[in-house]
Amino acid sequence: MPGESLTHVAVDDVVQPFQIDRADVRGRLVRLGPALDSVLSGHGYPDAVASLLGELLVVAVATAGAFKFQGMLSLQTSSDGAVPLMIAEYRAAPAEDGPIAPGRLRGYARYDATLVAAALRDGDPKQSAMERLVGKGSLAFTVEPSPGAERYQGITALEGPTIVESVHAYFRQSDQLDAAIRVDVGRVARISNGTGSNSVWRAGGVLIQRMPSRDYPERDDEEWRRVLALVGSSGRLELLDPKVTARDMLRDLFPEDDVRAYQPIQVEARCRCSRERVDMVLRSFPASEIADMVVDGEVTVTCEFCNSHYRFAPIELNL
Ligand SMILES: [Zn+2]
Repeated sequence: MPGESLTHVAVDDVVQPFQIDRADVRGRLVRLGPALDSVLSGHGYPDAVASLLGELLVVAVATAGAFKFQGMLSLQTSSDGAVPLMIAEYRAAPAEDGPIAPGRLRGYARYDATLVAAALRDGDPKQSAMERLVGKGSLAFTVEPSPGAERYQGITALEGPTIVESVHAYFRQSDQLDAAIRVDVGRVARISNGTGSNSVWRAGGVLIQRMPSRDYPERDDEEWRRVLALVGSSGRLELLDPKVTARDMLRDLFPEDDVRAYQPIQVEARCRCSRERVDMVLRSFPASEIADMVVDGEVTVTCEFCNSHYRFAPIELNL
């Protein structure tokens, strides 16, 4: 059997896959630090918006392993609130980069600052940030696997007080995913003496998934409920604490189990935009539309994910 007992130490920005044989459960523990902070801090989001997007990003990283794929998992909310769109994308490294090359994370939230402030100020205090800011709508899961395999999309209604509630609703409606997830996002004090903000965004998450019943006919419902309860009772602070390693956290979460940890996968904040891609998109527009985009003698395109600016002279676009 592959895997070994908790010998791999990976500290931060990491996915730690694991398995608990006794319970026929496998899982992914996610710890995000600098990679998450870099995605969330680049846009000046209000804290409540950053926190919601952070939750979606952790869900993307954690669930990517539940779909068997070597490609991209994208989660997208579309809704009627002050934050009408959020996208979180996690891409496994391409096969040629090797099986343990870093996964790549990017995401962004579209929001109306005035509406966000008004919803936080005047909204129903009994409602969660998600209910107040995101509102009603849908959550789409899209898997774009490696070339040659089929694209998959699943959609569920945004319901309940958190994004995770909607993800659980999605798991319940899906035949293939007998799974549960726990996510925490928050700001913690910066450890180094860096300049700028004295706090950074961190997140932690645990996804557990039952082995398929067709392969494990003897699997035990009691054991599944026991592991579910352990995940549900984990402390928020512990998930966010940068000093607790993934290894220690698995031990704390499942103290009575022989948890097998697999090779951890590093996660990095990395966009996939490029000048070539932007150029290609621009060329797909009619010349008249591109001409309308010329300002001060150039066309500027800004990537919504990473804020990179791409500038083109009209002659480069054959105008
Ligand atoms: Zn970009």
